[in-house]
Amino acid sequence: MTKMNIYNTLSRKKEEFIPLHAPNVGLYVCGPTVYGDPHLGHARPAITFDVLFRYLQHLGYKVRYVRNITDVGHLENDADAGEDKIAKKARLDQLEPMEVVQYYVNRYHKAMEALNVLPPSIEPHASGHIMEQIEFTQKILDAGYAYESEGSVYFDVEKYNKDYRYGKLSGRNVEEMLETTRELDGQSEKRRSVDFALWKKASPEHIMRWKAPWSEGFPGWHMECSAMGTKYLGEEFDIHGGGMDLMFPHHECEIAQSCAALGKDSVRYWMHNNMITIGGQKMGKSLGNFITLEQFFTGNHPLLSKAFSPMTIRFFILQAHYRSTVDFSSEALEASEKGLERLLEGYARLLKLEGAGPMASASPVFDLRSDCEAAMNDDLNTPVVIAHLFDALKTINLVHDGKASISAGELAELKEVFGLYLEKLLGIKDESAQNKGTEAYQKAIDLLLNIRLEAKKNKDWATSDRIRNELSALGFEIKDTKEGFEWRL
Ligand code: ZN
Repeated sequence: MTKMNIYNTLSRKKEEFIPLHAPNVGLYVCGPTVYGDPHLGHARPAITFDVLFRYLQHLGYKVRYVRNITDVGHLENDADAGEDKIAKKARLDQLEPMEVVQYYVNRYHKAMEALNVLPPSIEPHASGHIMEQIEFTQKILDAGYAYESEGSVYFDVEKYNKDYRYGKLSGRNVEEMLETTRELDGQSEKRRSVDFALWKKASPEHIMRWKAPWSEGFPGWHMECSAMGTKYLGEEFDIHGGGMDLMFPHHECEIAQSCAALGKDSVRYWMHNNMITIGGQKMGKSLGNFITLEQFFTGNHPLLSKAFSPMTIRFFILQAHYRSTVDFSSEALEASEKGLERLLEGYARLLKLEGAGPMASASPVFDLRSDCEAAMNDDLNTPVVIAHLFDALKTINLVHDGKASISAGELAELKEVFGLYLEKLLGIKDESAQNKGTEAYQKAIDLLLNIRLEAKKNKDWATSDRIRNELSALGFEIKDTKEGFEWRL
């Protein structure tokens, strides 16, 4: 098995990935809170961990990928007070909360499909796992790391920190946090303001509520991932991923909950993708730079110069390493679009090439596979993989232009590796191929263009121009090449 290194946010270094129960791998990624349209902030973790999911399977692992849907307990400002994000949307739109959830889950799935993000193995809803969350909370209470107050249950950070270290993932200094929050004591039902809710008693107007031993209420936001992660992947599992913005408090609290209830960390490797900024600024509704994925796909936003296809967005995200920040701008997207077009055009040419002559003994073609593999094994370095594919493009174009030749063996290898990395692992597909329609349709266009070629040969310019002009008017782009023609819609 190839050696893959993953940067573990917890240890802050790259570690060799050794699954707990090879060939089985457990992967958990925090999914969306479904109260609004999917945007770029949703696309990045989905695409990052989709590539990881694909690559681990390519390495031969059997991956159980769990990506949850948060549909209860995520309160405004990620805090312990305030309205539930979904309940608030339901109130404003006069809908049943589960109507809001279904509506945005559907929109999320549609966007993910467009981005060629594979569905996870399990997509559990927090609202469907209330019993598990109550049981997990009870375990923490039984272990003595939580307390009940006015029908709610809070995690006792100070007590926990004496036995374990709270803040080890995010690097926060809990002593300082306890010190600065001491003056708030006695003003709230919490002992310390750093304590977080495991269960909240519902106020009379709160509509999403369930019966628990402590009160009629709802689970705290962090509880769902501890409960569902361990339910589906076991008390200890391999990888937990998510956006860097979830590191604190969400993932820090998950670690605390697991250690308190189970006496151990549930997660071996913590992986966090970095954030996306727009024009150097954090994306936010109040800043006017909030762009949904649908707006990208249609170009319907004042900050966008034009529409950008889902594959352009995917390619743009993969052109940066997942731990780097990415700054979105129309110009940067246009550059990605051009690069992607070149890559896909090269791939289409490659598939049509024919090998000839003897095989070169030290052909650079045979380095492509090991180079791409080395990049992926180095903490999923997709920008380096893309750079290697661009390098291979030079060979393809030289052969295409008749300036070099390639043996059948080299060609077969090149086709296989290019297809494997571009299509299967990076998940890039030729969107124009979707517009090319059925085989019969494609053959009909080829037929027309062959008639045009014959007309040209016979110097029948009227026929040749007519076919070209009328196809162009219908939206076809026709390119004359050495072999004949290339076309796309
Ligand atoms: Zn989570």
